[in-house]
Formats: sequence, C-alpha cells, structure tokens
Amino acid sequence: MTKNTTFDKPFTRQEPIPEAGIEQAVELMRTGKLHRYNTDAGEISETAKLEQEFADYLGVPYCLACASGGYALHIALKAAGLNAGDKVITNAFTLAPVPGAIHNAGGVPVLAEIDNNYCVDLVHLEALMQNGDCRFFMISHMRGHIADMHAITSLCEQYGVLLIEDCAHTMGASWDNQASGTFGTVACFSTQTYKHINSGEGGFLTTHDEQIMARAIMHSGSYMLFERHGAAPAKEVFDQIRLETPNYSGRMDNLRATLLRAQLPLLSDNCQRWNQLYEIAEAQLIDTPGLELPLRPAKETYVGSSIQFRASGLSAEDIQTMVTACAARGVELKWFGNLDPQGFTSRYDSWRYLDTPPRLQATLDILATTLDMRIPLTFDADDMKTITAIIIEEYSALTNNLKQAAS
Ligand SMILES: *Cc1c(COP(=O)(O)O)cnc(C)c1O
Repeated sequence: MTKNTTFDKPFTRQEPIPEAGIEQAVELMRTGKLHRYNTDAGEISETAKLEQEFADYLGVPYCLACASGGYALHIALKAAGLNAGDKVITNAFTLAPVPGAIHNAGGVPVLAEIDNNYCVDLVHLEALMQNGDCRFFMISHMRGHIADMHAITSLCEQYGVLLIEDCAHTMGASWDNQASGTFGTVACFSTQTYKHINSGEGGFLTTHDEQIMARAIMHSGSYMLFERHGAAPAKEVFDQIRLETPNYSGRMDNLRATLLRAQLPLLSDNCQRWNQLYEIAEAQLIDTPGLELPLRPAKETYVGSSIQFRASGLSAEDIQTMVTACAARGVELKWFGNLDPQGFTSRYDSWRYLDTPPRLQATLDILATTLDMRIPLTFDADDMKTITAIIIEEYSALTNNLKQAAS
C-alpha cells in the first residue's frame, strides 16, 4: 500500500439475492399471486410463512410483515395506544424515520441525550421519565449500539413507560444472550436494502402482546382477512377491535417475502461475517492515537454492519477535509455531526418540524467528531485493511499538518 493507494469497490453494493430466492420469486410471478391475501383455500401465503419463520427466529409469538421499517414504527405506536399529542421519548442520535414515525402517529418526540458509546444516556433518560408526561419510549439501537437493556427495562417499569425497540440495526444482535427486540413490548425491524436482510423495502413488527398485534394487523390493512395470518392471535381477539381500528394500508407482498425467506437462514452466518470485517477495522483504528472507538460491552453481541469512531481534535472544517480526502481515495465516510443533512445522516436539530428541540450538548459534542462507515458483505478482509489504512493515513496527515501549523 502506497500513499496513492485507492479503493474502488462501492460502499452501497449488497450481495445478490440467494438463487433459491430468485427461483421462488420467478415461480411466484408466474402465478400472479403477489398480494398476501391472494391465496387458494388452505394455502399459506409466502408472507404468512415468512412471519412465522421470523417469529420463530426471534422467539416471539407474533410477527407482522409490513411495507417498511418506518411504517412498522408508526403503527407500533398507534397499536400501543398512542393518542394525538402524546409525548414519545427517543434517543437524539437516530435516523430520520424514527422521529418521523412518532410524528406520523400524532405523537411528539422528546429527545434524550446519548453517551460516548452512542447509546441513550440513562441519567437523562430517567430525568425525562421523571417528568411523568411520557408514556412511551421508542429506543433506537442506532448503528447497532445496545444500551444496558436491563437498566432500560427497569426504568420503564418504574415509571410506567411502554418500550418500543427500533431494531433496524440490531437484527441478529443480542444483549446478555437475549435477542434485541425481545426486551420491549413491541419491536420493529427494517428489511430495506441497506439493513441485514434485503427486500428492497419492508419491515417487521413483533410483540408478545395479543391486543397490540391484533390492532397492528388491522392497521396494516388486513381488511377482514386476519385469519390468514400465522404468527397472530386467535380470532376472538380481533372480534373486539376489528371495527374500531383504522386501516392504514402498509402490507408486505409475497414477492418480497420470497426474497426474505431465502435470506433468513443465512442471517446468523452473515452476522459473523460482518463481525469479522468489523473487527479488522476496529483493531487498526483503535491503535491509532486520537481515534476513539466506542466500547463494546461484554454483554453486547453486536452485528458490525457499520463502524463509528471519533476523530478527536478535529474542527468541523478539518472533518470535512478528512471526509473529502478519504472520498478522493474511494473511502466513503459519513459525518454525523454535519448541520446540513447529507445522504442518510441527519443531526436532530435539522428535524425542523419539531417544536424548538432542546440543545443537547453531550449529543452535539459526541457527533461533532463522529465518522461512520458502512461495512457491506461484498467487502473482504483485504478490503477492510486497505480502507482502514487509508483512513489512518489521512487522519495522521491532517493532524500532522495541524501540529505543524500550530508550531
Ligand atoms: C432504516 C431505519 C429505519 C426505518 O427503516 P425503513 O425500512 O427505511 O423505513 C428506522 N430506524 C433506523 C435507525 C434505520 O436505520
């Protein structure tokens, strides 16, 4: 590797859909039966099979496949009983669909600070809960960082707050050997292309609460065909709510379900492959003076599909310089501290539809130097070494220049 080494693989290229999934999808298209309720007598649709398989995978009784992860978050709040104007706590470091889902459901996002490891700050969280006017906490396991879930669930219990988990980045992860998504009352997952299984668009809502699942299924647009769901409560549960629960149409279709059914059996292996790549980058970056990596607690089994680090000592201008220099060599870093949202990043204060968001100094300080990099499975170990070497070179060159300028 020389100073001019560049990297030329795209950071947004996913692996192909497994052949078995492609074959299933083609076969399905030949029948034209793409709608999840377009089944013959006694037939179980691909979508219903997928729901059962994902419920079994996670170890929960109920699962609903939806049109997107953000949609699942939206109806999770509605199904859990959110009324217009209700406050919903969420961590300030998350992706735009989370506050968007709260807003879409008629709720008001209340933002909590994060800590150095990109998890919700437990002290600030408790202070918000102590105010007593928030009945919901939508925790976003942003970039796969999992907070102390036992501490979170006991706070929720103590203050009577209902927990909804956004597991867009933790499908396949766990805390203290318990799957992420099984701590709260409801969990939502995304199967959009950039997540851990890929159907283009899609998501899951899971819960162990039969009332919430019955309402979620009605919301998703089941008409009166809820008996064609597998991982769902008994008909009697629907009888109580079916006429008072609005249809917010957002179903998954059978074509997407075939693609996901072929990927689910590969998920555990893929999570290990992600972690092998993550650990290569982590080992090199962590040894670079000035770069700060988040602590990964022993209880956290993460999925390293992206990596975050802080480039300490750099100003906003320096960070821009570093991002540009890395990009010129083919390495795509995202800066989560940018006031101007770019790509998928957006800082909480750019969500202008929120009424005067408070100044969250800890979060702003952490994000000011936070860089983020996706780790697609189309990269291999050598790719990770090349990429991290480029990052370290550019950071070192920049900090040396800064030192020289100062002396
Ligand atoms: C992608 C994502 C979502 C929403 O998923 P979509 O399927 O794109 O609606 C929610 N939360 C986080 C943190 C995400 O990254």
